[in-house]
Amino acid sequence: MPALGLIGYPLSHSFSPEYFKAKFQLEGLSDWTYELFPLKDISTLNELLYSKSGLRGLNVTIPYKTEVIPFCSNLTDEAREIGAVNCIELVQTPSGKELKGYNTDVEGFRKSLLNWYRPSLKNALILGNGGAAKAVEYVLKSENIGITRVVRTTNDSRQITFHDLPTLSLSAYDLIINCTPIGMYPDIEKVIPIQFSEIQPYHHFYDLVYNPDVTATMQMIMQNGGRAKNGLEMLHLQADAAWAIWCKK
Ligand code: NAP
Repeated sequence: MPALGLIGYPLSHSFSPEYFKAKFQLEGLSDWTYELFPLKDISTLNELLYSKSGLRGLNVTIPYKTEVIPFCSNLTDEAREIGAVNCIELVQTPSGKELKGYNTDVEGFRKSLLNWYRPSLKNALILGNGGAAKAVEYVLKSENIGITRVVRTTNDSRQITFHDLPTLSLSAYDLIINCTPIGMYPDIEKVIPIQFSEIQPYHHFYDLVYNPDVTATMQMIMQNGGRAKNGLEMLHLQADAAWAIWCKK
C-alpha cells in the first residue's frame, strides 16, 4: 500500500492530510494513505523509514527542514543552496532505501508570484530569515529581482532590522514579502510595522501567511492603494510539486 506522510514536531493543524486525501480520491488511488508522523527527535526518522511499509515520500516541516539534510543521500540544487528540505522522495535501491531531498517551496513561490504579477518587479524587501525566506530569495535572485532582507538581529550592514522598519522609506521597493508568522492565526491583529501612508499602486505585498485569508497587513496595504496576495496558492502549488515528485508526473 503506497504511503506518504508529514514529519515535524509538534504537528497539530496540518493542511496536508486533507489535501492529499482529496488528490487520492480524484485520481482513483483508493489504497494510498497520508499520515502525520510527529517525531519528538529527528534521530527516530530511520526507525520510521524501516517500520512503515510502502513509504514513498514525506513532507518535512518545522523544526526539521534543515536537520533532515544529513539523512538525504542526494539533494536538488535548490535544496542544497537554500539549506532546507521540505519534501523527501524515498527510492528503493539494492542497498536499501535512499532519500532525495527537495525544496518545493521554490516551485510553489515561483509559480504563484509569476501567476500574480510577472513584468518589471525590480526591488524586493524580504521580511524574515527562516527557511521560507531563503526559498523566496532563491526565486527572486533567479528572476533578477533585487533583494533587501529585514531581520530581527544582524551584524550585516546590508540588512535592515525590524527596529528600523517603521521609518524606512518604501519608495525604492515595489515588492514586499512577509516570510514571518506576523499576522498568522491566532495573532490576526498583528501588522508588519511599515509606513502604510507611503504605499502606492506600484507596491505589491505578498504574504506567505494564508490563515486568515486576508491578513491585517494585506488589509492595510489594499486600503492604501497597493496590491496584496496571501500564501494559499503557494501552499497548494508546493504540495502539487511534491505530488509530481512522488508520482513522477
Ligand atoms: P521559520 O524558519 O521558523 O522562520 C521564521 C522567521 O520569522 C524567522 O526569521 C524569525 O525570526 C521570523 N519571525 C518570527 N516571529 C517574528 C516576529 N514577531 N517579528 C519579526 N520576525 C519574526 O519559518 P518559515 O518556514 O520560514 O515560515 C515563515 C512563515 O511563512 C510562517 O508563517 C509559515 O506558515 C509561512 N510559510 C508559508 C508557506 C506557503 O506555502 N504559503 C510556505 C512556507 C512557510 P528569527 O530568525 O529572529 O527567529
